[in-house]
Amino acid sequence: MSVTQIQNLQEFETFMETNKGHFVIDFYADWCGPCKIMAPIFEEVSKEKIFQDKVRFLKINRDYNRDLIAKYGFNIPTIPRFFLVESTQTKFDNSSILLELGGSQNHQTMIDQITNKLNILNTQNMSNNLHNNTKKSHKIAIIGSGPSGLTAAIYTSRAELDTTVFTGIQPGGQLTTTTEIENFPGAWSNQTKQGMMGPELMELVQKQAEHFGAKMVFDEVRGIEVDKTKKTEPFKLLLGGKEESFDAVIIASGASAKYLGIPGEEQFVGKGYHSCATCDGFFYRGKTIAVAGGGDSAMEEANFLTKFADKVYLIHRREEFRASKIMLERAKNNPKIEFILNKKIVEFVGSDQVTGIKLEDTKTGESSEMTLDGVFVAIGHTPNTGFVKGKLDMNEVGYLVPQSQKSPEDRISKYLTMSNVEGIFVAGDVEDQIYRQAITAAGQGCKAAIDAEKWLEDKGE
Ligand code: NAP
Repeated sequence: MSVTQIQNLQEFETFMETNKGHFVIDFYADWCGPCKIMAPIFEEVSKEKIFQDKVRFLKINRDYNRDLIAKYGFNIPTIPRFFLVESTQTKFDNSSILLELGGSQNHQTMIDQITNKLNILNTQNMSNNLHNNTKKSHKIAIIGSGPSGLTAAIYTSRAELDTTVFTGIQPGGQLTTTTEIENFPGAWSNQTKQGMMGPELMELVQKQAEHFGAKMVFDEVRGIEVDKTKKTEPFKLLLGGKEESFDAVIIASGASAKYLGIPGEEQFVGKGYHSCATCDGFFYRGKTIAVAGGGDSAMEEANFLTKFADKVYLIHRREEFRASKIMLERAKNNPKIEFILNKKIVEFVGSDQVTGIKLEDTKTGESSEMTLDGVFVAIGHTPNTGFVKGKLDMNEVGYLVPQSQKSPEDRISKYLTMSNVEGIFVAGDVEDQIYRQAITAAGQGCKAAIDAEKWLEDKGE
């Protein structure tokens, strides 16, 4: 079935009144890069046999339909955004939204989420998993589906552990919000001399994990309860409306880059507004750009970006820096970097791409404007650890602390990826404040999986 374009509120309401059933809506915008990447995937998913006569697919331009979005309460912080909705005999309203499918998706995760929610048998996956699960023993939960979570899943499922991956609302993690990945070994075409698109790479890794029997569950874990008196499955995961118990858990829930939080910024993400210099710096060869922030990340990113850009402005809201002396000095000594202090970015200028910024002086309140090709934000990351706050050891900014980060005398286990709770392991950006690369996260996922397997074996149950 092909995709139906809905033009306006009236057309949407007429459509919902005359067509009862289930629909997947893609909210997009013409200027949005990730929307363009997702469009053919959405089109392909709409043609899947499994949805024939069951689910219809609609596209709505977010920019021209803000009234529709407000009226029915669609929550669209970033685009593209997908929703599974149901139109029944009664009127369509906010309660008709069954599922928010997050931003960037891959072909298979989108199919799986819809089929899971509607209880449509996805025979290909089911037969795969049934086949693979017949010989599984211990139940292990992996929280997060970025490079660390999915790598852990490949290892645990190949080790014959009954593996469930809770993907969270952004299946595939942060990589699905980037475009081309050029620094993941092997994800490279020698023919075109190009890397792989982020969503494509994560789809491949997910399929690899599923091939060995890992199950993907499109749910967010809201908490973990531990019952140490239980011999088997002592870890209870609290999910949306249900609970499930496991023998061991690997937390690989990642971290989210902080954005400035200024009005309208979401429309420029990936269009001249970036949060990862290693990922997107390459596109600014010979250009003039800015980095916002005053910590080590900002200094590091600014220095890194001078490999490509002709000029990098370091914009910081104060005169004092959180950055370490050595990193700050390195940036100050770099002839391509110019510091702009006591200024904050208050607005982006541009139509479909950033062409400049508006600044406000934090001391005088004075306004100014700059012409730029791009802005990188480096104001920190937030680890996704809220769901285990107070339960697991964290550092002062919320990153989990595995045994490897403790001094030898403070360690409670020989398993270096284990948290302070026996049987809960941690991997990837959720515990890594320094490297934060897809490849380092994948490596840590591998370590956590091997540790979890050995720990279960040692327990001897
Ligand atoms: P950070 O140290 O927390 O610094 C964040 C910076 O962003 C601060 O200067 C802060 O300004 C600014 N900021 C925060 N919110 C802002 C907003 N809304 N608008 C404008 N500016 C804003 O974060 P980080 O630089 O990511 O570093 C995090 C940790 O990782 C640190 O411990 C750091 O040492 C470590 N790290 C180490 C390395 C390395 O060693 N190679 C590299 C990167 C990071 P204020 O100062 O005014 O609050």
